[in-house]
Amino acid sequence: MKLYLATSNPGKVREFEGAGLEIEMFPEMKSMAVAPETGDTFEANAIEKALYYGAHCDGWLIAEDSGLEVDALGGAPGVHSARWAGNDVANNEKLVREMADKAVRSARYVCVIALVAKNQVLATFRGAVEGEIVQEPRGEGGFGYDPYFFYPPLEQTFAQISKDRKGGVSHRGAAITKLISWMRENASM
Ligand code: IMP
Repeated sequence: MKLYLATSNPGKVREFEGAGLEIEMFPEMKSMAVAPETGDTFEANAIEKALYYGAHCDGWLIAEDSGLEVDALGGAPGVHSARWAGNDVANNEKLVREMADKAVRSARYVCVIALVAKNQVLATFRGAVEGEIVQEPRGEGGFGYDPYFFYPPLEQTFAQISKDRKGGVSHRGAAITKLISWMRENASM
């Protein structure tokens, strides 16, 4: 039984493999239009993407949706994280602007993975990690909002910690761990 990941990003495949999952990029994605994302929850969008790509896949397929929820902004950017202001640089400028006068700095990254087979949703897996938004960027690693996402237990932003360490504490790492234990119980791995 093969497990495919609906992504065109080899880095994401490595993140799943790093956690001990045998997974392949879903090759037909390249010739398909990008999946619609019309939901207002991470679950709805992960399911929408997984069913869309899964309809063209013989094996099992997973898709994920993730983003940043900032409490002082009422949970924004949330499901709009990727294109909140257009691109990563503009997104971070907007975050700094909107957070400038906010005393409450709490935020979390959320990742939801949806698993489908034969046009059926088998399960969804949610991971989250709590942090705080800082006003000055720190670190060169990571991507997206990472230079502004401070993780108190390590006293560093996600752009300052190594990839391996991030995988061990991140929202995506937590969702992947849940997926792996589900696969161990429900599929022969
Ligand atoms: P998706 O590809 O639709 O799931 O959008 C995810 C977006 O959420 C990314 O483009 C980033 O803006 C943000 N995001 C999700 N996870 C992370 C992370 O680990 N670091 C930084 N930004 C993230």
